[in-house]
Amino acid sequence: MTEDIIHQCPVCSGTEFSPFLICKDYTVSRESFQIQECKACGFLLTSPRPSLDTLGDYYKSNDYISHSDTQKGLINWAYHRVRKIALKNKLELVQKYTQTKGSLLDNGCGTGAFLSTCIQAGWQADGIEPDADARSIAEKVAQKNIFLSLNEVEGKKYDAITMWHVLEHVPDLNETIEKLKNLLTEKGVLIVAVPNPESDDALYFKEHWAAYDVPRHLWHFKKKDITGLFKKHGCSIKAICPMPFDAYYISLLSTRYKTGKTQYIKALWRGFISNNKAGKTNTSSLIYVIEKNP
Ligand SMILES: [Zn+2]
Repeated sequence: MTEDIIHQCPVCSGTEFSPFLICKDYTVSRESFQIQECKACGFLLTSPRPSLDTLGDYYKSNDYISHSDTQKGLINWAYHRVRKIALKNKLELVQKYTQTKGSLLDNGCGTGAFLSTCIQAGWQADGIEPDADARSIAEKVAQKNIFLSLNEVEGKKYDAITMWHVLEHVPDLNETIEKLKNLLTEKGVLIVAVPNPESDDALYFKEHWAAYDVPRHLWHFKKKDITGLFKKHGCSIKAICPMPFDAYYISLLSTRYKTGKTQYIKALWRGFISNNKAGKTNTSSLIYVIEKNP
């Protein structure tokens, strides 16, 4: 494996880091990776990490559920049931903050479920997906051409851009945010969902927390990191919204990573506790609604 070490914090440009946690890749490689903490601002990042030419190898697993459409097993069954409700909630959230059914870009559309939900609801929606297998499924599901990267939509404008659990996978964070900002209409909104390392389930499971998902998750965003990062690019946070379903699924995986056993009741209980403590702005994952400053 060739590795990249992060020498500069993408949030504050700090150059000193201290070890935070060592986490194992439970889904693909079984290798261990270090999460480092920026000494200046506290941002958590995976470093060293596989270099760009080998990172793709760490996505090759049937367990990597966001790219899989198999319905085997109770977890996957529950996941797909919940996903239906979650898709509807996502669409309602987008429509609440845009107040229009205009143009939408789903960046990192995976197998196209949200994209096709938007198209069916009357949006002019485009999708981007770098993974070839997921992209070909998305093209069938959404019945349209899916772009490979942000470079292919350069010059276009969107009323809404969504990134559902995508930003934590993006290697060139600041460049990507600048591109996203340029793709938004004046009143457009960027909707970003990411895992929340300050949630109760993250603090409880520590290195076994499934949403660290190293080395695929390169960054681990706290609320102040998202705020600071987007502020640098002339954007501000309009709203932070909860994602209550994630706590159950993440707790189920985390319990399995911690104990080696699948324990549904225990996981449901942990998920329930996490949501109970979270209020509206500290759930296992959070949705940020971001706008450009006038
Ligand atoms: Zn920093």
